[in-house]
Amino acid sequence: MQTFRPGQDGYPEEIAGFQTSVATQPAVVVAAESADDVVAAVKYAAEHDLTVSVQATGHGLTAGTDGLLISTRRMTSVEIDAGTATARVGAGARWGAVIEAAAKHGLAPLSGSSPDVGVVGYTLSGGFGLMSRRFGRAADHVRSIDVVTADGELRTVTPGSELFWALRGGRAGFGVVTALEFGLVPVTELYGGGLFFDTADLPAVLRAWRTWSMTAPDELTTSIALVALPDLPMLPEEIRGKHVANVRVAYLGEDGDELVAPLRAAAPALVDTLRRLPYTESGSIASDPPHPHPYHGTNATVTALNDGMLTSILEHAGPGAPVSTVLIIDRLGGELARRPVDAPGWDSAAEFVVRALSVVEDGVDPIRRAHAKLFDALAPWSTGRLLPFLYGEHPAADLTGTFAAEDRARLVRLKAKYDPDSIFPAG
Ligand SMILES: Cc1cc2nc3c(=O)[nH]c(=O)nc-3n(C[C@H](O)[C@H](O)[C@H](O)COP(=O)(O)OP(=O)(O)OC[C@H]3O[C@@H](n4cnc5c(N)ncnc54)[C@H](O)[C@@H]3O)c2cc1C
Repeated sequence: MQTFRPGQDGYPEEIAGFQTSVATQPAVVVAAESADDVVAAVKYAAEHDLTVSVQATGHGLTAGTDGLLISTRRMTSVEIDAGTATARVGAGARWGAVIEAAAKHGLAPLSGSSPDVGVVGYTLSGGFGLMSRRFGRAADHVRSIDVVTADGELRTVTPGSELFWALRGGRAGFGVVTALEFGLVPVTELYGGGLFFDTADLPAVLRAWRTWSMTAPDELTTSIALVALPDLPMLPEEIRGKHVANVRVAYLGEDGDELVAPLRAAAPALVDTLRRLPYTESGSIASDPPHPHPYHGTNATVTALNDGMLTSILEHAGPGAPVSTVLIIDRLGGELARRPVDAPGWDSAAEFVVRALSVVEDGVDPIRRAHAKLFDALAPWSTGRLLPFLYGEHPAADLTGTFAAEDRARLVRLKAKYDPDSIFPAG
């Protein structure tokens, strides 16, 4: 096992991650290759009074660390048991590797928009994926978790255990997961892609998508993004440099063209990429940026999306808004409306989640202020926040509302029991 300290060769590369707006300066980085390495690192940290943070890909950093950082990027094993439709992955595996391995057996995981995101960080956050309205959250499919707790013990936790409950959605603060076992679904392809609409059509398309998604079958998981696209040659000419509405579709039924007909009728699409595609190409539906960059984001779950709310969204996060914001609205409902069994859950009355994401250019404060204006306008309908979509540094107050009240209270009790000295930062 290699270790790195500030000033040593390899240190900057080891702490580098996808999110570059969170300043992190660990006193020591442990490049773990096995569960034994993680056990040794946690024991060392406890003896030296250091906090312990974990980084796989750096997509979900919410706080920097000056303690000990366990880098799991080398623990990338992926094993598929086709007989039981189960995957077992190491702490550093990314979704892309699982998607490829599962596809060879006619199976797919409950992965999200980007194949580059880490399986463990995503799943411990709940994991809201491309097929979530049909199959629920990734966390709902976990079967077994190997985790090193603050006492340095490697435990395998399974349904019925209180740590198993906490880890499936509670994300940070309970231990370092070294391996995860979860169920796969028999999906090889879907109908998916995007429709891109012109700036002038944003109000009409937002309303049409809202109405359409309210009555959609659970086989459809969909979102709409309002985004100012750069004027770059790799983008189709029709949308280059425009503030567009991008409807994203992931549909498990056979009648996709029929299903999206009302959207295609709402306004002329500038670009239409909807088609049947293998699940291995599911990352093309949202086409998340692959390069590391600084970003800050927050969100609110809402019980409705009335016309007044859509007007506020356009005013605060549409074309002409003072801070450039990618605004994404996801339809919840379906399997997501059912409270998870044996896992912490959010308020299941929410129908949509509204997410705001901005690139950090002149510090985080102007972004916080701009996002606050938007979410203040939505507050009367808001029920909480989704943990995975809090990006960049967030005060503890932002975490309120990420779980139903009784679940948060239980998480706090379990945190005190399993990590009494708070060596794992929550977040
Ligand atoms: C481009 C992009 C697309 C995304 N798409 C989706 C999506 O579709 N659906 C969705 O639900 N989320 C999505 N997310 C959010 C993502 O799930 C979270 O940010 C998640 O925490 C990232 O995990 P990671 O391991 O890749 O990142 P990291 O930054 O490496 O880890 C994030 C946090 O996860 C925890 N963690 C990671 N590994 C371990 C471990 N082994 N043991 C204990 N704790 C650990 C730690 O608290 C760590 O700080 C997306 C994020 C980005 C940037």
